[in-house]
Amino acid sequence: MKKEIQAIPQPQYNTSTYAKVAEALAADYFSIYVVDPDTDEFIEYSAAEEYDELGVEKEGNDFFNLSRKNMSRIIDPEDKERFLEIFVKERIMNILERDGSFTTKHRLMFGEESVWVSMKATLLEDETGRHLIIGTNNIDAQMRREQEYQNRMSEARDRARNDFLANMSHDIRTPMNAIVGYTNIARENIHDPGMVQDALEKIGSSSHFLLSLINDVLDMSKIESGKMQLSMGDCDLAAVLRRIEDITSMQAANKALRVTYDHSNVRHFRVWGDELRIEQVLINIVSNAIKYTPEGRTVDLLAEELPSEQSGKSRYRFVIRDTGIGISEEYLPYIFDSFSREKNTTINRIQGTGLGLAITASVVEMMEGVISVKSKLGEGSEFTVELDLEVMDQEEEAEADAPKEQRDLTGKRVLMVEDLDINAEIAELVLSQFGMVSERAENGEICVRMIKEKGEGYYDAVLMDIQMPVMNGYEATRAIRALSGDYCREIPIIAMSANAYDEDVANCLAAGMNDHIAKPFQPERLRELLGKYIN
Ligand code: ADP
Repeated sequence: MKKEIQAIPQPQYNTSTYAKVAEALAADYFSIYVVDPDTDEFIEYSAAEEYDELGVEKEGNDFFNLSRKNMSRIIDPEDKERFLEIFVKERIMNILERDGSFTTKHRLMFGEESVWVSMKATLLEDETGRHLIIGTNNIDAQMRREQEYQNRMSEARDRARNDFLANMSHDIRTPMNAIVGYTNIARENIHDPGMVQDALEKIGSSSHFLLSLINDVLDMSKIESGKMQLSMGDCDLAAVLRRIEDITSMQAANKALRVTYDHSNVRHFRVWGDELRIEQVLINIVSNAIKYTPEGRTVDLLAEELPSEQSGKSRYRFVIRDTGIGISEEYLPYIFDSFSREKNTTINRIQGTGLGLAITASVVEMMEGVISVKSKLGEGSEFTVELDLEVMDQEEEAEADAPKEQRDLTGKRVLMVEDLDINAEIAELVLSQFGMVSERAENGEICVRMIKEKGEGYYDAVLMDIQMPVMNGYEATRAIRALSGDYCREIPIIAMSANAYDEDVANCLAAGMNDHIAKPFQPERLRELLGKYIN
């Protein structure tokens, strides 16, 4: 059947229809003026009653000047200066000729009440000439809603910051309390080796926790400000897994937990990646598994190598399975949020900050990997991390597994540049344990002078603090490197600094240092570094 198409009746416009449309629109406006931009003559087209009460002229022949005078009287004093600056005929006409319309928002005073309005000017041209239509409407409700929204947002930001500070000061105070408390106990029981030993152990573990908290907060702030960067390089997964085994098997032994490690399915251990960050991700998850699993149960770490969809890469899958307390269904969606912790863990007073998994998830995301979790309350949890990593040359594998020989450092002389006595004392003690001799300079300038005075070959290495009075570590290093002779160009200078961001390390290298060790330092790591550079 053929459908008949009927003509749609067209509306018939005439002047009276236009007038009605204009009237309908005008009802939405506080006031509408029609102005002749060439003569400045104006006439009020329509105005609401409240507007009339402001006592503004309904017609005249100097629109712009009159408006400026009237507005000076009726505008909210806070908006006056801004309005008068823009409401100048030439400026407005320029904008209108360019854009066709112009809008500004300000507040008018209705008695004591200040009300937001929007003023819109439009330039129209018809056979009778150019007309400026200036309409003002009430946008008070809309502006107040917007303002309320802004206030709520800024309140939420303030609250988040306050929560953060409250969390932080609580989390810092707890281990600090233990450190201060046990230091006093040790002092009062100095002749009881058992008590002192016990106190030192507690001080040690609280310091360790405090340090990891500080590192987490730094990481989190770097992630949030977008400054976290991966430092990609040759990465030895075998070494990573070995270190994880060392660290976590110790944690597990303290709790009488059985941990199994299986990487029998990994064929390529040399990959391109950020070794420290990969280790951090896995340590965080395995440590949690151990932390949240009661004594006598099990934790398994499985590493597998699978084919990757990307050429030249393998997909590495790490599965960490525990038979611990598990995670509730309600909490699971929030597990990767910063500072979030499940209620039962806080109630049971298990130490933690709720930052570890937030950092872990961000780092995995930066590596374009995937992290997921399955869990059942009371039965256990399973975390899976999958990373596509480029596989490096096979040949290098053998060399990687060669055990590191320990260099003999006995009698080697180190110049330690450090302004703080306590830091210097700690480092001196550690160096003496390595059989080394140390001398100290309190700042960079003294360091440079000592190197010059003692002459070629006297020191075997320099340990350089960064932030110091008079001359900092960067300047001192540059000054030493600029001295004449191979000795000054080549003497190993190792930064020993609490400035431990990647960019700090990069700055040290750029200043001419050989390496960097973060304070507080692990004695073993210092020994390794000194051994590497002193020949
Ligand atoms: P933290 O352990 O410092 O509290 P995390 O971000 O590492 O912070 O973990 C957040 C929360 O997730 C923990 O407080 C805990 O409630 C829960 N959680 C993490 N891993 C496990 C796990 N293996 N078993 C049970 N709960 C876990």
